[in-house]
Amino acid sequence: MQEKDSPVVGFVSLGCPKNLVDSEVMMGLLDRAGARLTSRPEEAEILVVNTCSFIDTAKQESVDTILEMARHKTSGSAKKLIVAGCLVERYRDEIRKNIPEVDAVVGTGELESILEAAGVAPAPAAAPSPFTILTSAQAQAISGIESRAGLESRSGTHKEFRAEGDRRERQGRFRRDEWAGAAHLLPTYLYDENTPRLLATPRASAYIKIAEGCDHPCTFCVIPNLRGKFRSRRFESVVAEARQLVARGVQEITLIGQDTTCYGEDLGLKDGLATLLDELARIEGLRWLRFLYAYPNRITGRLLETIAKHDNICKYLDVPLQHASPDVLKRMKRGAGAEIFLKTVEKVRAAVPGIALRTSFIVGFPGETERDIEILEQFVGAARFDWLGVFSYSDEEGSGAHSLEGKVARRTIEARKRRLMKLQQRISRRAKQEWVGREVTVLAEGESEETPLLWEGRTQLHAPEIDGKVYINDFGDLEKLQAGVFYRAEITEAHDYDVVVRVVGAA
Ligand code: SF4
Repeated sequence: MQEKDSPVVGFVSLGCPKNLVDSEVMMGLLDRAGARLTSRPEEAEILVVNTCSFIDTAKQESVDTILEMARHKTSGSAKKLIVAGCLVERYRDEIRKNIPEVDAVVGTGELESILEAAGVAPAPAAAPSPFTILTSAQAQAISGIESRAGLESRSGTHKEFRAEGDRRERQGRFRRDEWAGAAHLLPTYLYDENTPRLLATPRASAYIKIAEGCDHPCTFCVIPNLRGKFRSRRFESVVAEARQLVARGVQEITLIGQDTTCYGEDLGLKDGLATLLDELARIEGLRWLRFLYAYPNRITGRLLETIAKHDNICKYLDVPLQHASPDVLKRMKRGAGAEIFLKTVEKVRAAVPGIALRTSFIVGFPGETERDIEILEQFVGAARFDWLGVFSYSDEEGSGAHSLEGKVARRTIEARKRRLMKLQQRISRRAKQEWVGREVTVLAEGESEETPLLWEGRTQLHAPEIDGKVYINDFGDLEKLQAGVFYRAEITEAHDYDVVVRVVGAA
């Protein structure tokens, strides 16, 4: 129950789904402490911007949003501005010094301090809240899961970190002393099934963060410095949260983490992600289950078998490869190359027929030559990904690549990006044409933002937010559709990336 004079808090969440889950946890904590959440910044007394600072454009968007929200302190009802997230981990002092409107900062490892920053008292731990994902009693009630998964000996014994992370720390992987104002303690925070969380996604879908941090050595990436060492959530905690979400009406769960395929390594689990998927797929009422961000050399036969085995595990794999030229991948400290990746792609398609493959690449990495781009183009042509993202290299201070020679000119980077996207456009157009006539299950999401005459939805081959669109232009015998409901539909038209469907009945 909220007090009449409880503060009204407005929240802006930027960046990736992992950051969104952090926002949902902070909103849950504020809600439980009695704050009232609003989506209208002009009526908020406290404004929170949860920032991203992965690459230059994300940093710029974060700063622009902070400045935009700061204006509500002079023209609106806002009295307090709080900045949270990755930008804080990196530029804590600069934010406070250069943007005086900011009243408090909250790093990624201190989400609970949002309460102190907002000036609201934490609610007693046992306070009832409709948004608490699971109470300890409920968690205990389902503890039978653990023994079914053969995890008795591991219950509650979370090893601090895996050896890989410790070794990489000794090698300087997580060093960030050169960042003025960064708190030098690495974040270690991890939410669990008892943490309150207020979902910001449409009712039928939710993300679950199954791990945090990353121990990989990729030289273009500062995420390990921002998010800390890799750590998995307890197996039973993830299952408990999934059960609770499904009980609340969620039908699609997307598992996320910096690298989901490492899940469980620090808990001593072999094939941890496959074991987890196997357990989650048994939850009654869960219609779609997927995971994002697979690391290429961790796609095991067992993982693929698990995807193929369960009808409710989406036939979808997102595996960011970053490049295909062995030379570039070596300098990225990722290894492998086009030949190995093509074998992986073949293995995946053979094990899970019809699977949609998504990847992303970085172009313009230091030292990238015309020949490297040709190798990448040939690979893209041969692999024929269903979905592909291309990012321009961003030279991040604190990353291993920052000190590398052979920086590629911005114009060249953008030209290479266009070249690759053009190639993918042709591949995608042809592939989407082959989808015409197929009958698929579509999750209706609501009226299209482009026109009220169309609805939008997704098939299991489309992850939330990132892939092409599914437009629904014919409701069949139905007078209207309902958002969050699954329908059977036929694909009637295909464009470069998007498809159009006609509803043929209930699913
Ligand atoms: S796997 Fe590489 S790119 Fe991904 S978060 Fe870890 S270090 Fe960054």
